[in-house]
Amino acid sequence: MRLDVDDFVVVTREDAAPSALQSAPRYLSELNDAIDRITERLREVNKKIHDNPELGYEEFIAHDTLTTFMKGIDGWKVTPSAYGLKTAWVAVWDSGKKGPVVSFNCEMDALEGIGHACGHNLIATAALSGAVATAEVMRSNKLAGKVVLFGTPAEEGGGGKIKLLEAGAYKDHKVDLNLISHPGITRNHALTRTSAYTALRVEYFGREAHAAASPWLGINALDALITAYNGLSVLRQQTMPGDVIQGNITDGGARPNIIHAYAAGNFVVRANTQARLEELLVKVRHCFEAGATATGARLEMARGMAYADHVPNRPLGASYARYFNALLPSPSNQTIPADQDLDEMLGRSGASTDQGDVSYAMPSLSPGFAIVPGPQGNGPHSPDFEQASGTRDAFERALRVGKALAGTAVDVLTVEGLLGKVKEAWEKSIKGLLRPSGFGLASEIRLDIANCMGSANPLVI
Ligand SMILES: [Zn+2]
Ligand SMILES: [Zn+2]
Repeated sequence: MRLDVDDFVVVTREDAAPSALQSAPRYLSELNDAIDRITERLREVNKKIHDNPELGYEEFIAHDTLTTFMKGIDGWKVTPSAYGLKTAWVAVWDSGKKGPVVSFNCEMDALEGIGHACGHNLIATAALSGAVATAEVMRSNKLAGKVVLFGTPAEEGGGGKIKLLEAGAYKDHKVDLNLISHPGITRNHALTRTSAYTALRVEYFGREAHAAASPWLGINALDALITAYNGLSVLRQQTMPGDVIQGNITDGGARPNIIHAYAAGNFVVRANTQARLEELLVKVRHCFEAGATATGARLEMARGMAYADHVPNRPLGASYARYFNALLPSPSNQTIPADQDLDEMLGRSGASTDQGDVSYAMPSLSPGFAIVPGPQGNGPHSPDFEQASGTRDAFERALRVGKALAGTAVDVLTVEGLLGKVKEAWEKSIKGLLRPSGFGLASEIRLDIANCMGSANPLVI
């Protein structure tokens, strides 16, 4: 219902709720059965990945386990070590009839020292089960279209999905949309917004001199970095909600009796959108330049790995919520709200993911799902969450997500006009978010992604 009140158009909550939420999902029991039939095999895969944590681009056990599993499912064509990446892979199920191409992303990597503390074993389970169930329903109902499952390495700072995007993996398969999910401990939601982020490597080059006998002959690079650090601290008072600037000093001089000729640090800048990130980066650059101006040290900055913010898709979210809520035990206080404004507000995260880059390339859905936390009640990137993500209960919750993702895919394949609505919503939501970089001319800044991918730049994604 629309009401005009003092020049404002008030939309009541009933109108904000997607009407699809009211009706029962048509393929629910079929999808349920398809996954229930292979639950114990899926659990073996899930455990194997969880109990053998591997870092980005080294997910060899996960790669072999997942591709072997997919080769064992009827009708799937599996390509191991795809697109020049040893641990990337692609599995395709083709109906042979022209139709929508739905895709899933399967993450595999763990964190150094704390294993599967981001629950990517659960993400893999949801994607694997979702893709297989979608193909099963397509087969039994003779639906047209294709399902593509991508094994995507190195989410934790390595940008595996960006490499696959750049290699043309999604274009090669004429993918219409992409589905993934992420576990957490708070609540279930369909619409996730993450932060855009970029890493920076900052170096100052000065000149040594005796710090007591002739300091006037020196140029203090550490002073330059400290001046910049303090400038950033001042800048933080005037930033927008969502703006985050973090850094650590990796090189702070050699000895106290020498004027410091070299100082360096790693910095991470985040914002709600890529466009806002570019604006913020201009101010951040000014702070670093101020350090150089104040001391006479020479500044070198390298922009490292960057992830775009994740832009959620509302028509896909409505389908997912409908299936997910129907799969919850009734009654439940875990339901995804029908009000998509509320859902999106609750799904906002300060963290970042390379699924964000996927969401700028095609419609994407990355729902969050709650698992029961460990004894300390701690969330992702903690040993507590590593324990929680290995439990049978967490696995079963990931299967529920797999079923709801499959439901979303099947909706796209069967509901007349839905794919058009998904694409229209995507175009509308990213329009205006794309703006050219204001950070600096390419000649001023060394773009050196490889420099920031090593251990020298520990990133928290
Ligand atoms: Zn993570
Ligand atoms: Zn993660």
